[in-house]
Amino acid sequence: AAGEAVVVGVRVRPFNDREQNLDAVLCIDMEGPTTRIRNIDTGDEKTFTFDESFWSHDGFEDDGTGYLRPVPGSKYADQRYVFDTFGQRVLDNAWNGFHCCLFAYGQTGAGKSYSMVGYGYNKGIVPISCEEIFSRIGNEKDPEKRYEVTVSMIEIYNEAIQDLLIDVGLRPKKGLEVRESKALGIYIDGVIKRPVENYEAIETTIEEATNHRTVGSTLMNATSSRAHTVQIIEFKAVTNGSATVSMINLVDLAGSEKAAQTGATGDRLKEGSMINKSLSALGNVIEKLADRGSEKKKNVLIPYRDSKLTRLLQNALGGSSKTIMICALSPASSNHEETLSTLRYADRAKKIKNVAVPNENPQE
Ligand code: ADP
Ligand code: MG
Repeated sequence: AAGEAVVVGVRVRPFNDREQNLDAVLCIDMEGPTTRIRNIDTGDEKTFTFDESFWSHDGFEDDGTGYLRPVPGSKYADQRYVFDTFGQRVLDNAWNGFHCCLFAYGQTGAGKSYSMVGYGYNKGIVPISCEEIFSRIGNEKDPEKRYEVTVSMIEIYNEAIQDLLIDVGLRPKKGLEVRESKALGIYIDGVIKRPVENYEAIETTIEEATNHRTVGSTLMNATSSRAHTVQIIEFKAVTNGSATVSMINLVDLAGSEKAAQTGATGDRLKEGSMINKSLSALGNVIEKLADRGSEKKKNVLIPYRDSKLTRLLQNALGGSSKTIMICALSPASSNHEETLSTLRYADRAKKIKNVAVPNENPQE
């Protein structure tokens, strides 16, 4: 089968209060699928094209509930639009029996969690997807068809995989191991899979996991975690004894900025370099896969085993998954360098080709 490219989108957020107070200068512009970034010191401009360029910088208003919607005629991409564009695609893939993966990349404070999880009424792709899963199940007309959904939540912190559905004190220190089997593909050994029968059950599970997160604060963004968070939804459709299993991986990556810029020292710095180990491994994997995709270097060794993150996402990256990446961008010229590096990262990811195969009849 011909390879299918990773779908890549970028999204630019509004100025935050700090930027507003400092009279920040906008350095991003978007038109259709095209994103342009300008270095305001040199005037140098660079243009990138992605599957989607989501403009969420301005042109929005509060609808009265706190939900941000576009003002008439604006190109503002609200949460619903981003879900309709990328979230629906993930669910369609799962329904067709594919494994799929959606991950958010970008500097701390650029808007990864806003897109993935969201805040308040501005729910992100993860909760809307969960709602949509059960609304689709409810609409199933075939009385023979049965669905089983389980949810796992993990974080990768200092290169250890921790189960967020287990109380911090009860977790094994070393964390969990990633393993591979013919029947299951890549999986996390011993991770809790919580069966869920409705949206409320997923919501409760996510809340529980969020309370168990290892939260660290950096000068740059006090609420941002220094860990990679992964939600794994296992979706099983059963008809007449045969089953199709799809795994949906929703990944909110740790900030991609260099440790030095966040003012981290000591433990925080160690975390920074560990996080960067997973992120730079991800960068290497993406680069190798992009080479393979564009130059037909079929025998390139892909260093999946260099980090927990890349091992876990092995199927999603260059494997048998459908993969979507959303890269969060800061609009401010003060972040120009980090934003440019995010755009270059996104540009490389675009060149990856996956060969997705539907999963049938897994062994129970
Ligand atoms: P990250 O997870 O990348 O560290 P967040 O998603 O927490 O960043 O976003 C940082 C801040 O910017 C939050 O206060 C968030 O509400 C705001 N923000 C991010 N993206 C948007 C957006 N598209 N529209 C409105 N506010 C946003
Ligand atoms: Mg975040």
